[in-house]
Amino acid sequence: MRVAVIGGGAMGAATSWRLARRGVDAVCYDRYSPPHPLGSTHGDTRIIRTAYLEGPWYVPLLQEAFPLWRELEAVSGAQLLTMTDALMIGDSSSEAVTGANASAQAHGLDIEVLDAVELRKRYPGHVVGDEDMAVLDKQAGILRPEAAVVAMLSQVPRVVRDTRITSIAEVMDDFDAVVVAAGPWTPELIDWIPLKVERQVHAWLAIEREAGWLMPDRFPVFIRQSKTFGDVYGFPTLDGVAVKVGRHHEGEFTDPDHVRREVGATDLDPLRRMAATYMRGVSGRVTRTLTCMYTNTPDGHFVIDFSPDDKRVVVISACSGHGFKFAPVIGDIAADLVCDGGTKRDISRFAAARFAPSYVPDHNHDRN
Ligand SMILES: Cc1cc2nc3c(=O)[nH]c(=O)nc-3n(C[C@H](O)[C@H](O)[C@H](O)COP(=O)(O)OP(=O)(O)OC[C@H]3O[C@@H](n4cnc5c(N)ncnc54)[C@H](O)[C@@H]3O)c2cc1C
Repeated sequence: MRVAVIGGGAMGAATSWRLARRGVDAVCYDRYSPPHPLGSTHGDTRIIRTAYLEGPWYVPLLQEAFPLWRELEAVSGAQLLTMTDALMIGDSSSEAVTGANASAQAHGLDIEVLDAVELRKRYPGHVVGDEDMAVLDKQAGILRPEAAVVAMLSQVPRVVRDTRITSIAEVMDDFDAVVVAAGPWTPELIDWIPLKVERQVHAWLAIEREAGWLMPDRFPVFIRQSKTFGDVYGFPTLDGVAVKVGRHHEGEFTDPDHVRREVGATDLDPLRRMAATYMRGVSGRVTRTLTCMYTNTPDGHFVIDFSPDDKRVVVISACSGHGFKFAPVIGDIAADLVCDGGTKRDISRFAAARFAPSYVPDHNHDRN
C-alpha cells in the first residue's frame, strides 16, 4: 500500500511514523522543511495533561498518548516528555476546574483539588485570590515539539521537503490513500470543514534570579481562567532565565500566507499584565516571542475522518489549538483509517458529519 501524507508538522509526521511502523510505503510531503516555525508545531514546549477540561471523551486517547510518546523516545533516542504535573486554576465555577474534575471523576484519574490556602503554600510562583482553586493533574508535563517532529520523521523512509502539493488530485493517482495534515493550510486542500485560522503569540518573560519556585520540579505547567485575561497558560523555566506564557484563543483570524508575524505591544501588554498579576518572580522584560496558528473548528473539537466524497482521503489536522499532545495517537488512528477502513478507538466526537449533516461516517467498526 502507498500513502501520501500532506504535511510534516505534528500530525503528518506522526501519521507517517505510524504508517511506516506498519510497513506501509508512506511518503510525507511538506511545503517547507519541518520542523519549521511557520505553522503550528514550534516554540520549544507543549503541554500534555490528562484531566482534560475539554471533555472526558479525550481521556482514553490521552492515556494512550503517554506510552506512545515514550515509544518514540525509545526508537529515536530523543528526550521528548518531562513530567511536571499540571495545575488548572480558576474559581469553583470555571471550566478549568469543573471540566478537569469531570474528566478525573469519569476516568478515576490521579488528581488533587487544592483550595487557595493550599495553592499558596505549595506553589509560591502563583498569586491566588481567596476565590481561586485548582485541580492538580498528576499525569501531565511538557513535550518538545521540534524534537518530536525530528524524531518522528527519522522513522519515515521518505520525506519530500520544500514541495507544495497544490491539490489532493495531484497525488491521488500515484497513491492508494492520502492523509491531509496541512494544519492551517488545510482550507487550501479541502472545503468541507468550516475552519478558521487564528493567530497566537507566545512570549518568554525574564525571571528574577532567586525565583527557584519557577523551576520544573516546583512549578507545574498551568492553565488559568480569569475574567480579566481569559484563558492563559504557562510553563516552568527550562533555562533559569525566562518562562514562556500565552493566551489561549483571543487572537485575530488570519490565513497562513498573510499572518502577521511581527509581535507588538498589543500582543505583549496583556501577557505582561497577566504575569504581573498572577505570577511571582516574573519581570515584564520580554526575551523572545513567536507567532503560531490554531486551525479551529466551530466547536473547538478535532476532525479525524474520511473525506465525505472519497474514503481514500483522511483528514486529521483541524486540532483547534490543543492537538499536539495527541499527535502519536491521532497519527495511529489515521493509520487505522487508511489501512483498515476504520478504528477501534472511539472517534465519534471527531466526525465530519457534525458539520455536514448529510454525511454518515463509517468508522468504529470492528477490525479483524
Ligand atoms: C501557540 C500555540 C500553543 C499550543 N499549545 C499547545 C499545547 O500546549 N498542547 C497541545 O496539545 N497543543 C498545543 N497547540 C496545538 C498544537 O501545537 C497543534 O494542534 C499541532 O501542532 C498541529 O499540528 P499540524 O501538523 O496539524 O499542523 P502544522 O504544524 O501547521 O503542520 C502542517 C504542515 O503542513 C505543511 N503543509 C501545508 N500545506 C501543504 C501543502 N499544500 N503541501 C505540502 N505541505 C503542506 C506545512 O508546511 C506544515 O509543516 C498549540 C498551538 C499553538 C499555535
